[in-house]
Order: sequence, then structure tokens, then C-alpha cells
Amino acid sequence: MQGAVLHAPGDVRLDTRPDPQIVEPTDAIIKLAASCVCGSDLWPYRGIETVNGPAPMGHEYVGIVEEIGSDVHTLTPGQFVVGSFFASDNTCEICQAGYQSRCIHAELIGAIGTQAEYARIPLADGTLVATPEVPDDKYVPSLLAASDVLGTGWFAAVAAEAGPGKTVAVVGDGAVGLLGVLAARELGAERIIAFSRHEDRQNLARHFGATDIVTERGDAGVAHIKDMTNGYGAHSVIEAVGTQESMMQAIRSTRAGGHVGYVGVSHDVTLPGDELFFSGVHLHGGRAPVRRFLPDLIDRILTGAIDPGHVFDLDLPLADVAEGYKAMDERRAIKALLRP
Ligand SMILES: [Zn+2]
Repeated sequence: MQGAVLHAPGDVRLDTRPDPQIVEPTDAIIKLAASCVCGSDLWPYRGIETVNGPAPMGHEYVGIVEEIGSDVHTLTPGQFVVGSFFASDNTCEICQAGYQSRCIHAELIGAIGTQAEYARIPLADGTLVATPEVPDDKYVPSLLAASDVLGTGWFAAVAAEAGPGKTVAVVGDGAVGLLGVLAARELGAERIIAFSRHEDRQNLARHFGATDIVTERGDAGVAHIKDMTNGYGAHSVIEAVGTQESMMQAIRSTRAGGHVGYVGVSHDVTLPGDELFFSGVHLHGGRAPVRRFLPDLIDRILTGAIDPGHVFDLDLPLADVAEGYKAMDERRAIKALLRP
């Protein structure tokens, strides 16, 4: 089969990779209907994360079940499925508590690489959620978004306790931040402030429910949020970048007693203990347990309540995967959809 492989920073190619096989009886093989490039794929692509030899790429996926192992009981070949970027058994105590991304048996789908024609999905019963029927093609981008960026933005909004009467600020105008805006709207937030300096992203933020845009960042951005909230700061802040500046911007934009939901993959972030102590702010986040939210998100998508697929502003055949990375790296695209 054909699949994307990162050979070195800036060098991603479509290579011939071995066809995936059932390894464990709990595995399923899926034929990808669509995959995409994630903001987190750009860290190794930019050389900020080390690339140790050729690495298969991709962890977002929707597709059709092709084959199941002998110990898979809830899925049948031909079903359309959505899964998250961590395989999980969905039965251990951590999964039952809703933290499937930290399942004691969690397996990283990124190591499998779903920017490909086929993929082996471990712990298929626990990981994959089947749609009631094979959906119309128009729903595929939104269902794909549920696999990571929507699920992650949703978790961030839940972790930040976005809800009725709340002012929510969103740090980061990538796909996760933009869908954090959508999640905050769906959860009933009263006011949603998106930090963004890019007109196309501001427009999408408004489409997803942002009521205000703040173009400053860092301390100037924090000052603007304080100005807008009678000096209090936001009740709920979503952090969707993962840098020192963005994390501090999120913490400082939050009022005492408020909540930060942080989902930007942390890169060299160091939290000052004294500032954290005196802030009185709750911090919760990490890798999102997307599986917790999938049944609800799939239902909202198929009933037309939400349209997260709008974050894909570039639609490419898998063969053009290199252009997908390049366009996102150069910020010409918010998110690239890849069709095998
Ligand atoms: Zn588990």
C-alpha cells in the first residue's frame, strides 16, 4: 500500500509500505476513507521534535472496516468507523473514568501511521465507533475532524468548564482552537473570545461561534481580556498551542477560581510555581480522551447540529501529502484533508 513517511525534517513522501496485517486478535484493519495532517505532525516536520529514521505519519482517521481479528465482537467488515489517536480498551478503570487516552493499554496510532491507504487499529472494540450506516460523503470531513481536532477542542472546552453564563477565551487559532470555539458555543458559553491575528481564521472563529476577536498576544492580549471582563479575566480559557508564551497567556487570562483547559502539546513549557500558587486558577488538560466524546460528536455531526469539517481548507489526494505539510507549515492552510 501507499503511505506517508517522514524521512527527515521537511521531507515527507508517499512510499510503498507493507500492507497491514492482523497482529493481535483484538485488531481490525480499516480502509481509510480520509486522513489529514495534524498541527502536531508539524513538530517533527519542522525538526523541533527529533525524527529517528523514516517514520510513518498520521493519527487521524475514518474508514471502512476491512477485516477483524478473532477477538473483535462489536464490529463487522463494511462498517464506517471513527477512532481516536490513541487506541484504548475502553474497559479499564481509567477508560471507565473517561480518560481513554491514558488507558493502561493505550497504543499510539501515530506509530501506525494513518496517512495511508490502510491501517491496523489495535483494541478495535474499544477504539472504534461505528456510524449507524455508511454516511454520505458530505459528512466525511466533519467525522474526520471528530477523530482528533474536534474531540481535542471539545475536551479543552470541557476541561475549562465552558458553559452557560461563562466567558471563554481561546488561545490558538489552529484547527483545535477553532473547534474549541465551536465546543464552547455548543456547551452554551455566553461570550467566546478568540485570539487571532489572521483574517481567514478570525472569520472561521466567528462562523464557529466566537463573539469577539482579540488580535494582541502575550501580556497585551491578557490586558485586553482583563479590559473586556471588568478586570476579572475569563472564566474559562482554552490553550491550544503548547508554547511557554501561550500557556502563560492562558493562565494569566483566567480569573481566580477559573479553569484552563490545555491541549496544545507542551514544548519546553515551564510553569512558575509561585505565580501558579497565587493565581488560584485550575489547570486541567493533556492528551485529549477523544474516545469519551465520539458517540456524542458523531451524533451531532450526522444530525447537522455542527459542521467542524469547515476547518479543512485544503483537500488533496494522498499522493500530494508533501504539499499538505508544506501548506500547513507555511500557514497557507489551516488543515489539509488527504484522500487515499
Ligand atoms: Zn483502558
